[in-house]
Amino acid sequence: MMPGPLFAHLDLPPVPGERGSGVFARVAIDASVRREFSYRLPKAWAESVQAGCRLRVPFGAREVLAVVVGLDDAPPAGVPIEKIRIARALLDETPLLTPALLRLARRIADTCWCSWGQALAAMLPAALRRGQARRTIPVIESAREPDEAEVRELEEKQPKQARALAWLRRAGGPVEVREFLNRTGLSRSPLESLSKRGLARFGSRTDVLDPYAGTTAAAIAPHALNSEQAAAVNALTAALDAGTARDFLLFGITGSGKTEVYLNALDRCLEQGRGAIVLVPEIALTPQTVARFRGRGGEVAVLHSGLTDAERHDQWQALRAGKVRVVVGARSALFAPIPKLGLIIVDEEHESSFKQESTPRYHARDVARERARLEGAVCVLGTATPSLESWQAARAGEITLLELRERVAGGTLPPVQIVDMRYEKTEKNHWLILSRPLETALRSALSRGERAILFLNQRGFAPAWHCPACGGSVKCPRCSVALTFHRWRKKAMCHACLAEEPQPTQCAACRGPVTMVGVGTERAEDSLRRAFPEARIARMDRDTMVRREDYEELYRSFAAGEHDLLLGTQMVAKGLDFPDVTVVGVLNADTALHHADFRASERCFDLIAQVAGRAGRGPKGGKVVVQTWLPDHPAIRAAVKHDYRTFAERELKERAEFAYPPCGRAVRVTCEGPRPDRADKLAEEAVALLRTAARGAKGVQILGPAPHALEQLRGRWRRQILVKSPASGLLAVQPALEQLCQREHVTVDPL
Ligand code: ADP
Ligand code: ZN
Repeated sequence: MMPGPLFAHLDLPPVPGERGSGVFARVAIDASVRREFSYRLPKAWAESVQAGCRLRVPFGAREVLAVVVGLDDAPPAGVPIEKIRIARALLDETPLLTPALLRLARRIADTCWCSWGQALAAMLPAALRRGQARRTIPVIESAREPDEAEVRELEEKQPKQARALAWLRRAGGPVEVREFLNRTGLSRSPLESLSKRGLARFGSRTDVLDPYAGTTAAAIAPHALNSEQAAAVNALTAALDAGTARDFLLFGITGSGKTEVYLNALDRCLEQGRGAIVLVPEIALTPQTVARFRGRGGEVAVLHSGLTDAERHDQWQALRAGKVRVVVGARSALFAPIPKLGLIIVDEEHESSFKQESTPRYHARDVARERARLEGAVCVLGTATPSLESWQAARAGEITLLELRERVAGGTLPPVQIVDMRYEKTEKNHWLILSRPLETALRSALSRGERAILFLNQRGFAPAWHCPACGGSVKCPRCSVALTFHRWRKKAMCHACLAEEPQPTQCAACRGPVTMVGVGTERAEDSLRRAFPEARIARMDRDTMVRREDYEELYRSFAAGEHDLLLGTQMVAKGLDFPDVTVVGVLNADTALHHADFRASERCFDLIAQVAGRAGRGPKGGKVVVQTWLPDHPAIRAAVKHDYRTFAERELKERAEFAYPPCGRAVRVTCEGPRPDRADKLAEEAVALLRTAARGAKGVQILGPAPHALEQLRGRWRRQILVKSPASGLLAVQPALEQLCQREHVTVDPL
């Protein structure tokens, strides 16, 4: 589909034979080729074209969207003028992207191994990337209550329709059709069948607007800062006043009042007539953050993947026009077109969700620092558990360290009790979910009318099926991942490709019966309901949080005291600030440690420290109970003592020993193919190329090829090569990596 230009009067047909107009645009295209292309511009609108505008250009047999990155008055050397094709349309009257954003995209392309065009495409909201203007959005909703016979019939004969219907009914209102397709993995046809049956209704909306219009912005009066906060604010406002780029690490324990520091820095930034970006790691946190920032009187835009395309487009345009100067959002908000940027805040900077896992594979923390540098802005990385990258940079003096060592509400961090599950388990309670100490703690909190948060980093009912006869497990047919049982769908689900399979009954290898093993949030919820029948229990994970509004609704109802126990995955670990939560339980601290990732210990430490930080934020104090099978693991021991420094020093030593980031650079090259031998062949070629490049380069190691940790994904076989080099750089292998990232079936990923 090729949409019309936004400015039709500028859309001239190509002029055959037009020569020597004297203006050539260099453009970047959203494709993996890492070069720019030149086009001639028709005289009639050549003058209107500037770097940062979008063009529509012929590309092979297609017509594609391109972003102008430069203008020349001569064709590229050695290319005859008649060989240069003519651009077809100009889509923007004024540049959509500022020179700083163009440069930022270029940096991303060079450091994350993608093309300039791919990096630019990632900066634009989808609607602009496709070259569209506003449009109506098709929506779907359930139309009437189905009767039981109907439901039974669908479940037996039309499982896809049954699932679609169940999903729509859960959603409880109109949902964009696109969102439905994305979230369920179903096609459009079950919707059409449901609509014929009168069970679902198609509609449309042209909306937009403010996605958080309903958010109540309780005016939050500024707090009188304590001395640590005041010192941090002084440092930040001095840097803002100096007007030059500078990076800060705000290392403040949970509950130390980091947000108040951000708000004070933001006030100064706005007084200066500049704008700000506030990044949060999880869209579940945006309503809370938006409410806090809005509460101080300012208009706040929101950008994240939970919005519709049209909503995102409008928010983006409002920022670009300077109507709103502050944006709160996830990763992509980093590219908000704020005209005079003064401040970038990355809250919970240690979070792994700031790393993008598809092209361009950038880390928001690095891009935030780079953007701040390009625009003379102040960048604040805030966290209770700094990433080792930031910690090391702070130690090296590249980032200024600001510390908040005290909780604002007074008191210390809550005491943490470790429960060694090896001693709690008995024959009878094999899938033990609540140890006696945790159960006791919950009981006494509930009896005092206090509340608790329970954390389990595993969704679904049971994470695997096991065959007691042969020791096998039930795998996804297309991925090398054990299937998780989700009871509400009565399905086995692959958490890698999100495909659903019927519930297995026998082992694929030996045909023996299989049994479910392990505990996910669904199963834990059951146990909790049995143990505390009176308690009001809510669950927060990706199965219960289907739509964006679900987070807001649960956040609101929990804040309003409508639940006693909140059980959830990492969504509950971050940011939540409720003073009457006095107990926090970590049901299984070890899940994060079982990953084949050099950051596994760091993640485990962060998670425990973060969840523990949800407890004892009020005058009643609090307590944390951590259940683990590995009570002696250094990450767990340090987290229990709230001892970040000891953990970080120890971990950095280990990273240095093995030359892992931040003590060295690591890049993963993944080669994939439809069959193992095809993946092997590609990987052999890649490794040969890298080895040749690395020959003689000091300290560069090329490891592999080896099977990828997730060897098979969506039916494709994967091999990986690890490139490690000293922190000083990958110079020797850079050209080889640039060559590889343009190949089909190869991805190059900075770790
Ligand atoms: P953190 O992000 O560091 O964990 P928050 O920013 O969530 O901490 O702050 C915790 C709570 O303390 C919030 O409810 C906040 O409004 C409050 N607060 C912050 N600063 C002060 C202060 N100086 N005096 C009193 N309360 C404060
Ligand atoms: Zn799968």
